[in-house]
Amino acid sequence: MRYISTRGQAPALNFEDVLLAGLASDGGLYVPENLPRFTQEEIASWAGLPYHELAFRVMRPFVTGSIADADFKKILEETYGVFSHSAVAPLRQLNGNEWVLELFHGPTLAFKDFALQLLGRLLDHVLQKRGERVVIIGATSGDTGSAAIEGCKHCENVDIFILHPHNRVSEVQRRQMTTLFGENIHNIAIEGNFDDCQEMVKASFADQGFLKGTRLVAVNSINWARIMAQIVYYFHAALQLGGPARSVAFSVPTGNFGDIFAGYLARNMGLPINQLIVATNRNDILHRFMSGNQYVKETLHATLSPSMDIMVSSNFERLLFDMHGRNGAALAGLMDSFKQGGGFSVEQDRWTETRKLFDSLAVDDEQTCETIADVFEQTGELLDPHTAIGVRAARECRRSLDVPMVILGTAHPVKFPEAVEKAGVGKALELPAHLSDLFEREERCTVLANDLKTVQAFVSQHGNRGKPL
Ligand SMILES: *Cc1c(COP(=O)(O)O)cnc(C)c1O
Repeated sequence: MRYISTRGQAPALNFEDVLLAGLASDGGLYVPENLPRFTQEEIASWAGLPYHELAFRVMRPFVTGSIADADFKKILEETYGVFSHSAVAPLRQLNGNEWVLELFHGPTLAFKDFALQLLGRLLDHVLQKRGERVVIIGATSGDTGSAAIEGCKHCENVDIFILHPHNRVSEVQRRQMTTLFGENIHNIAIEGNFDDCQEMVKASFADQGFLKGTRLVAVNSINWARIMAQIVYYFHAALQLGGPARSVAFSVPTGNFGDIFAGYLARNMGLPINQLIVATNRNDILHRFMSGNQYVKETLHATLSPSMDIMVSSNFERLLFDMHGRNGAALAGLMDSFKQGGGFSVEQDRWTETRKLFDSLAVDDEQTCETIADVFEQTGELLDPHTAIGVRAARECRRSLDVPMVILGTAHPVKFPEAVEKAGVGKALELPAHLSDLFEREERCTVLANDLKTVQAFVSQHGNRGKPL
């Protein structure tokens, strides 16, 4: 499988190189040159497979030529073996033909484990083969950091540095990062905000001299392997609900358009999906596009669903690329005008075509809490705020009651106690067994000034299993 850039100017790469690449050299994002397409019979024959075996069948075409079948199978069995639920991604019924796909049974209790547990193992496999080491530098406001560290903690060939804003992430999220130890794990608290952290990561990608030749790898959702891993659970859910003989609809809480883009790909690979709902919080650039063809940057608001607090959606470019007939030059122009003017609309017929599949809703904090309370009252299920946004959007945007509606349950409620408290649900939140002593564990973290040179010096001092690069 070859991968091309959405802006048409960067060289095509194979899977291995895409895994190790961040942005393409022309500023675009990598996508498969040709998407694999499965027949209905083929998909139907996968019913009842264990998750890791389904994952092998869905993802195999993407890695062919880079990872041997036997190796890939073993990696997938290990990856999904660490999940605490035997179904890996169980479906729970909320209402008539309405289901939550629980994606929070991984080590850090959020759906990012599906991709980052795999990414860590794939990286180590490829690097071992090449005899190389890499450094990962990532910024996090919460979920990505802990999932990335959990995914890389056993990697022999990766040193990971995760930057979080000092005193500005929740205690559960901080402890999920800082209580993981290893000579290749480096937690850095920056005396600044999340944007400061993200700017440092960007600047480090732009000028890598401080790494003395060691390659820098991205773990944010621009990394193709993350999207790829997320395609699998759409198949998994649909197969349990009568697919592919029957269509399924999905409602997806999203900020960066990563998770929902995976659903769009599943559909293009042959899975009958009749509706995809983009569910956002008050940071609603995606909803404004889907409802009114306006993709315009606005100010950032802090919400009760912080993992979706974004101003622009990095993966949306991948959909825009398809929307424009995969014309890289057109995309480069569009993204350029976005950079200059902070917004754009697409041609009306392209937008209308997109709306045949996508609906959207923006849900504010008050409605989020209302939904958590309603669902708890109706079913006894406690939703995290991100999932609650998905449920709200599913209920308001649903096109057909005959089509099963699946809401992606992106996090465990214990990660976001503030929203649950505000919802007034009188149920104590309990950490799952493997994290029950989280608040007693020792923490390790280095606090650094909000200064690029200081951070880069720290990385070059510790980037080789704690020793200098
Ligand atoms: C990251 C995250 C999201 C948003 O994911 P996208 O990649 O923006 O689609 C939603 N919910 C939770 C809990 C998350 O951690």
